[in-house]
Amino acid sequence: MPQWRHACVLLAALTSLFLAIILIRTVTLSTPKCTVHALWERIGLLTPPEMDEDDSEFISTLVQAVTIPTVSHSKDVYNTTAMREFTAFLRKSFPTIFSSNLVTYETVAEYSHLFKVQGLDSQRTPYLLAAHLDVVPALPEGWEFPPFSGALQGGFIYGRGTLDDKQSVVGLLQALEMLLDKGFKPEKTFYIAIGHDEEVGGLDGARSIATLLSKRNISLDFVLDEGSIILEGGIPGLKKPVAIIGVTEKGMLMIKLRVNQKPGHSSMPPRETSIGILSRAVSRIEEQRMPLMFGLGPEKDLLEYLASEFSFPLGIIMSNLWLFSPLVARFLERTPSGNSLVRTTTAVTEFHAGMKSNVLAPVAEATVNFRIHPAQTADEVLELVKHIISDERVNITTISSSEPLPISPIGTDVGYIAITEAIQETFPGMLVAPGICIGATDTKHYKGLTSALYRFNPIWNHPADLLRYHGINERISVKNYHQNIKFYFNLIQIAGQHDFAPVHSHSSEL
Ligand SMILES: [Zn+2]
Repeated sequence: MPQWRHACVLLAALTSLFLAIILIRTVTLSTPKCTVHALWERIGLLTPPEMDEDDSEFISTLVQAVTIPTVSHSKDVYNTTAMREFTAFLRKSFPTIFSSNLVTYETVAEYSHLFKVQGLDSQRTPYLLAAHLDVVPALPEGWEFPPFSGALQGGFIYGRGTLDDKQSVVGLLQALEMLLDKGFKPEKTFYIAIGHDEEVGGLDGARSIATLLSKRNISLDFVLDEGSIILEGGIPGLKKPVAIIGVTEKGMLMIKLRVNQKPGHSSMPPRETSIGILSRAVSRIEEQRMPLMFGLGPEKDLLEYLASEFSFPLGIIMSNLWLFSPLVARFLERTPSGNSLVRTTTAVTEFHAGMKSNVLAPVAEATVNFRIHPAQTADEVLELVKHIISDERVNITTISSSEPLPISPIGTDVGYIAITEAIQETFPGMLVAPGICIGATDTKHYKGLTSALYRFNPIWNHPADLLRYHGINERISVKNYHQNIKFYFNLIQIAGQHDFAPVHSHSSEL
């Protein structure tokens, strides 16, 4: 047989093999599902009370929380009057919690709150549910209702903190209040930690709580905090909403670029000015983006978990990322949101130079903000930046940095399973998948206490709603707020079960 025929036969065989693998992967890779209801009935947990749209008691508790302007302006600069008022509000709104002999309560760093709910079996490792009571500032311009009014309109509660994160603070405590009222005694001890300065780094609140727990030699089974949500319509080709559990969090590196040149008159300029040198450096780091990291973080798990739910032909592609990863990565990097999942992003945020129109600027400075992909470190990013700029006249200094958080166990950890099951109990049929949390949360302060840090809020958002976070017209629907309470009501019970043995149907190794 001539050599070209050998090549053709080999090519045909390889193609058939590829097609067979693609077909098998497409047919067998299905979304992991937890069959929770059988378990639910078997262990006889309490069912959450029905809450209808005009159940004014629950709504008014969240509305009151929103009307207290617990604003964090900058590190150490908070509205302390409002924070004190918030403490009084908690005491008044949740009398059962504050009088229960199962609950130990303390304030931490004056305005943060730590509740310990004693479990029946004190030998078991406790877990922690976190939220934060502070909010970012809000000017009334552009709002349909004043940001601290807690207005109720068209089935929505409006106001700063209704999505971030007072719905969790109040929802969590409301769920615990109802459970204690029903005589509930948890099998396992858990903590509720409510920080007061998350929006400015959590250095006083969550960090002090973590230090306190550490001094008491407490380690945690898992931590659940804010950070990821239920997203509907945000992933091309996926019709169903998906609850994303954030299993890691991007890191951050902020650097200053500085060029010093001799001052002088603009009539006799040198070949290059400080502004020109800095501009070229900035231009180079914008043009040469950080490397693609698709497949090295949980973004690949997210797509594989959801593979069977994508419409044709995306389902085939997502089921065969072993082959199509480069294609998918190129597709994702085309939009800012997709790009933020697959690499360390680069944002030039400040540029200062010059003081007079006929004087050469002696100094030119720029600030660059990198959000680090979980597969990279701050040092690696810094080295790459130096290499890309390759100009000794550009002085590079680090302003601040935080490493990406480690990827928490996916699918197997008791915390991940409990959160998944509580989601599916609250939102029957909901898809659940792991993902990256793009923003920073308080979870970083708890990383010394557990390797299982999860981020999820049971908030149901369309892509347009994402602009409401830290933006104008922040709001939550009454229905969704009730679902928040139910989620925590379910989770607290599921997470403490002794014979916690979910029935999983998972047809393929991921
Ligand atoms: Zn938040």
